[in-house]
Amino acid sequence: MSVRVVARIRPLLEKELDKDVIVSGDRAQDGKPLTIVKIPNPKNEAEEFSFAFNSVYDRATTQEELFTSEVAPHMKALFQGYDVTIFAYGVTGTGKTHTMRGGLKLAERGVIPRLLSNVFRRGKKLAKDSNGETTVEVALSYYEIYNDKVYDLLEPPEKRTPSGLPLREKDGKTLVVGLSERSCGDLKDFEKLYIEANNNRVTAATKLNAHSSRSHAILRVKVTQTTGDMVRESIASAIDLAGSEDNRRTDNGKERLVESAAINKSLFVLSQCIDAISRGDKRIPYRESKMTRILSLGQNNGITIMILNLAPIRSYHLDTLSSLNVSSRAKRIEVREIENEVVFKQPPRSTSGLGGPNVVRQPLR
Ligand code: ADP
Ligand code: MG
Repeated sequence: MSVRVVARIRPLLEKELDKDVIVSGDRAQDGKPLTIVKIPNPKNEAEEFSFAFNSVYDRATTQEELFTSEVAPHMKALFQGYDVTIFAYGVTGTGKTHTMRGGLKLAERGVIPRLLSNVFRRGKKLAKDSNGETTVEVALSYYEIYNDKVYDLLEPPEKRTPSGLPLREKDGKTLVVGLSERSCGDLKDFEKLYIEANNNRVTAATKLNAHSSRSHAILRVKVTQTTGDMVRESIASAIDLAGSEDNRRTDNGKERLVESAAINKSLFVLSQCIDAISRGDKRIPYRESKMTRILSLGQNNGITIMILNLAPIRSYHLDTLSSLNVSSRAKRIEVREIENEVVFKQPPRSTSGLGGPNVVRQPLR
């Protein structure tokens, strides 16, 4: 299991052009890539905090650049049988949905459609190169976790049971009982399903008097490669997490309190899992939230990428700091005037700690 934690700072929106920019990317050394996020200390603006990441993407980073640097390098591993999990973490309004889903224009497409496009292209090539001996199937599941309950997004909201779908353990894995799965032949198929499912999410959210920023949306892409009696299955998961802001500060309604307790707990467990994986711990506390349990985070063989989305302006100051604190590997305080000469210790980047890929042998048909 390997993990990367990267930060992405979004550009100013049109309505923010006159706002004060307080978050910026920096490098540990001249000529090196950006790995540091800087932000003033809210209690003493002369002081600056620095947080270190595996990589930092500044305001000018395009959707293509992010995908090429952070996701594309793991697509080969996915087809070798490793699971790939990508999280977008951050305060509401910082660009999680933009990063994962993105806009409709080609250049604005996010990680999810790019990932699917890559999977279909690779699948076609594999089939062609093997003269049809290998077949590749892609199946999607899409669900959300709201108040610690699991709802299928591929089903219309009318069919939801208020208590959500139950979980069950099987062969050491957690299954969502009754979660639907749709086979998907190409990018067009996918887009139709995905748009429909996202509409289900919005409709359901309105009915529950909730906002989609208070639930985790999890897309699960199952890639099955079959060659003769050999079946290799791997899962790519793309997760648009609930907003990490402290809802208690802005809204004291009872419903909000229940929501924020559930959100805070699951985000806290997630960060604990990420920390434990990046330290190489044997024990990962993945059982302590539904989301990390379903993903078997740290239990499966795979690659996890957490993208911390950040808004650059002052109105997000405290929430930005708290999400930096949760997701960063290292922090230090420095005084503005002093040049930055410290080299940060980075978590390992290599994937050499991976176990074997998922290979299942099936009886001859
Ligand atoms: P979140 O899902 O974290 O609440 P959104 O993805 O909805 O945030 O982003 C908030 C707003 O900022 C949206 O209008 C989105 O289009 C815009 N935005 C976010 N990131 C970028 C970016 N990298 N480039 C351009 N616009 C962005
Ligand atoms: Mg969003």
